[in-house]
Amino acid sequence: MTLSRRNFVVSSLAVSARSLLHPGMSPQAVAGGKLPIIVSAANGYNYLDEAYSFLSGGGDTLDAALKVVQGPENDPNDQSVGLGGHPNEEGVVELDACSMHGPTRTAGAVGGVRNIKNVSLLSNAVRLHTGHVMLVGEGAERFAVAQGFPRENLLTDKSRKEWLLWKAAHSAWWGPGISSPEWRAPNARQAHADRWESEIGRLNQLAADIGIVPGLRAEAIRNVIFPPTGTIHCSALNRKGEISGCTTTSGLAWKIPGRLGDSPIIGAGCYTDQDIGSAGATGSGEENIKVAGAHTIVENLRRGMPPREAGLEALRRIVRNYNGDRDRLQFVDMVYYILRKDGAYAGVSLWEGYADNGDKPHQIAVHDGEKRLEKTVSVFAGRSHEWPPMPR
Ligand code: ASP
Repeated sequence: MTLSRRNFVVSSLAVSARSLLHPGMSPQAVAGGKLPIIVSAANGYNYLDEAYSFLSGGGDTLDAALKVVQGPENDPNDQSVGLGGHPNEEGVVELDACSMHGPTRTAGAVGGVRNIKNVSLLSNAVRLHTGHVMLVGEGAERFAVAQGFPRENLLTDKSRKEWLLWKAAHSAWWGPGISSPEWRAPNARQAHADRWESEIGRLNQLAADIGIVPGLRAEAIRNVIFPPTGTIHCSALNRKGEISGCTTTSGLAWKIPGRLGDSPIIGAGCYTDQDIGSAGATGSGEENIKVAGAHTIVENLRRGMPPREAGLEALRRIVRNYNGDRDRLQFVDMVYYILRKDGAYAGVSLWEGYADNGDKPHQIAVHDGEKRLEKTVSVFAGRSHEWPPMPR
């Protein structure tokens, strides 16, 4: 694990405050695109082929999008969605999802759901089998069981151990106490510059005590210091011009129990209007809720903005909420996925990528007969940093 990410003064941030679009990204369609087409978050890439052939064969657009997002939901190694998702601060996985079916203009959503892996399908069941749009918590779980969804333990060993490490790192009471031979006295006189290195050393030792194998320790420590985000959105459009979208997530790692982000909020994490198009989001849920991101983008499309501009305008609202203050905005990450009814699409982001994700840029996954990943167009050059900054 490198410490360079601590250098929050990113030299590449020297972009004029007036130039809010970072140029030079890969071209994305602005005139109508090929149909059918699926646009999703990058973690949907491996599941696009099956969904695309289903859609091409006449399958329903929402069912196609749900096929994509179920992939990460079922994958215990994707720690941002479904099974294996990072738990809340009490060690309980709580999942959120929503779906919108364009052709019937119907929607369903669930929030804070425990013990049910496929919450995207559960949001669809709310849409299909209730007169409501949103169910949360225990009621949503009971509804799932009534609909035949299996209850299962969603906390994998890997996520559990990372949560234990997070507890030990942040609490006076978790981890070795003063009577334990493992306890080490804190060095109160330590220079500020050394504190970071010593914090990493302490976390390494705690990770070893918890039984996290050496190969997974750097990742676990990173996830403790920078609580990761991650989610999947997918929108699908068929040859008839029918369009749908869905979003599913385990939300922010180590969140306060009961916290809902943007993902289950119709109009924030996902919004689809059969007349116009579909949009979805991954990233800082709290910021996206405040600008009703997906709805704002679809309304921008309605007013004639091309997909890229529609998304960038929503991102600029987030920038405006902080008066452009990059000391704060460096901790905000946001990616929008936009699909217009004629097949034009775009992926836009606030930053080019995460600092904690090496050189990997933000990408969207697209399948319109050819499956590919494309870089997003970003408002700012440079990378975001996970919140909260540590050590405090
Ligand atoms: N938007 C999600 C949330 O706030 C997290 C993410 O997309 O990374 O729960």
